[in-house]
Amino acid sequence: MDIAELADKVIAGDRRALARAVTLVESSRADHREATAELMERLRGAGREAIRIGLSGTPGVGKSTFIESFGLMLTGQGLRVAVLAVDPSSARSGGSILGDKTRMEKLSRDPNAFIRPSPAQSQLGGVARRSREAVALCEAAGFDVVLVETVGVGQSETMVAEMTDLFVLLLAPAGGDELQGVKRGIMEMADLILVNKADGALKQTATRTCADYAGALRLLRKRPQDPEGFPKAMTVSAVEESGLDAAWTAMSELVDWRREQGAFAATRAGQARFWFREEVRYGLLARLDAPEAKARMTALADQVARGEAAPAAAARDMLESLRQG
Ligand code: GDP
Repeated sequence: MDIAELADKVIAGDRRALARAVTLVESSRADHREATAELMERLRGAGREAIRIGLSGTPGVGKSTFIESFGLMLTGQGLRVAVLAVDPSSARSGGSILGDKTRMEKLSRDPNAFIRPSPAQSQLGGVARRSREAVALCEAAGFDVVLVETVGVGQSETMVAEMTDLFVLLLAPAGGDELQGVKRGIMEMADLILVNKADGALKQTATRTCADYAGALRLLRKRPQDPEGFPKAMTVSAVEESGLDAAWTAMSELVDWRREQGAFAATRAGQARFWFREEVRYGLLARLDAPEAKARMTALADQVARGEAAPAAAARDMLESLRQG
């Protein structure tokens, strides 16, 4: 495969090339990993910057309905929208909640949209690394907005926050005055909480839920890099397509502000550091997975078990052999 040609086609906005490139970065084959590194290095200079939005919410809150309506609104404004998913369930069971092809039917037919389900990988870390590269591919391909969707379970949110510029938490209206057991960590990550389904019989509840969350957000410390009023809670209805415009305005306002303050670039620089460290960590772990290394691990572990070597000394020998390998 000619990587230089693939890079040029991605930059030219060729969708088939983009799809091929995403498939390449999702592969864990060693030669594909090398090709990916070269591809990403070539695309780095494309000089394009999308708004990367992380979107989280538990199954059933209306993520796919929201992305469909929100995405179509954006493409209607002439923007190009990519949708990617980081789905920890695909890591666990091979069955992806976010991979269902029937989701976002209209948006998937829109020529200004690109939708890609979560890669199937054995570890969340692997899923996230591939998705981060897919985000960069979509950005290089000239998409204006890249939405990265995940299911609200905790660890995947942290990963998604490391690859996006702002983080949106989608919630459903809650009965009673109780907050929906949203983990504090996820609340703290959110720049925008959107209470969906603010329509029909649910409208009042949604408004009350939104007020509850606005109150909870006020108790969290305002981030120094953000303008007054953020993080913010708002109501939307993905079905009635209401509040979507206001949500987009809030997102744009926040991004503009952060760009002016330099926080946008600083966050991305910190993220680049994070992924560099992750790549090194995974590279080292991959060395442990090589057949010779595995055999050596087993042999040394047996020695340790028989009392023929102390754990620390055996580990030192193992690490030494990795260093030479
Ligand atoms: P996901 O699992 O988070 O992707 O949620 P879905 O988008 O599949 O939606 C789950 C259910 O909530 C479906 O039955 C949707 O029709 C419904 N739903 C989604 N958005 C809205 C909304 O804005 N209003 C109402 N009333 N129902 C919605």
